[in-house]
Amino acid sequence: MRIVLVGPPGAGKGTQAAFLAKNLSIPHISTGDLFRANISRQTELGKLAKSYMDAGNLVPDEVTIAMAKDRMEQPDALGGFLLDGFPRNVSQAEALDEMLKTEGLKLDAVLDLEVPDEEVVKRIAGRRICRNDSSHVYHVSYKAPAQEGLCDECGGELYQRDDDAEDTVRKRLEVYHTQTEPIIDYYKGQDLVVTISALGKVDEVTQRAMEALK
Ligand code: ADP
Ligand code: ADP
Ligand code: ADP
Repeated sequence: MRIVLVGPPGAGKGTQAAFLAKNLSIPHISTGDLFRANISRQTELGKLAKSYMDAGNLVPDEVTIAMAKDRMEQPDALGGFLLDGFPRNVSQAEALDEMLKTEGLKLDAVLDLEVPDEEVVKRIAGRRICRNDSSHVYHVSYKAPAQEGLCDECGGELYQRDDDAEDTVRKRLEVYHTQTEPIIDYYKGQDLVVTISALGKVDEVTQRAMEALK
């Protein structure tokens, strides 16, 4: 299957993607995680991306699309993938369509996670992620690690993302509403969108998502 996850920052895309990807046996591709891995390795791409990310803006399309394409061409993604955080504007969606079209492929579904802005702010304020792997995600009250400050999965140190500071979150929400939300209408035009509520417990949302993708 080829699935795109859409939703505001903090909606639970990464959390859900981890379960869904496992259930559906497809790789979870998060452009945010790819950028953060580049930042920790201090690559040129990481340095460029960090300035945009810290300001709550989108990283320029050219580098983002190249990075996403490169990842989607890896052998494990040839049979399908779950995209998390890409595409994030209409030009990226068009670039993805082009990419798939040249291979004779198409998307199966666009899963839209709905969460009110107030809940997003609460989820992001408490989010903590692992230094070793930013796909290991916790929340100080909703998903606390067994040992404070340490990752259950790998023992890595947990920290708060620089771009999870409250004023940056407001900016990211604004970017989401103005630049990312239009892709939902774009994909509605292709009859691909399924919308679910991302409120409630993590496993309830996973259930809703699996049901919606049937
Ligand atoms: P969240 O999970 O909170 O929505 P992500 O980890 O997906 O955040 O993204 C963090 C930041 O990385 C974004 O605010 C943006 O700066 C950058 N980023 C991630 N994906 C993209 C993309 N497809 N296009 C441009 N920038 C992106
Ligand atoms: P996104 O990838 O959309 O930015 P995350 O998966 O990182 O979102 O989730 C944001 C924060 O909210 C994390 O701290 C995560 O533990 C928490 N979270 C995720 N899903 C839920 C949920 N259903 N209820 C409460 N908190 C959640
Ligand atoms: P703002 O005016 O909100 O501070 P910018 O002017 O930095 O934001 O960028 C506006 C949008 O254009 C962002 O989504 C950013 O990623 C994108 N952008 C900025 N520079 C480039 C570039 N060189 N190529 C493509 N897109 C870019």
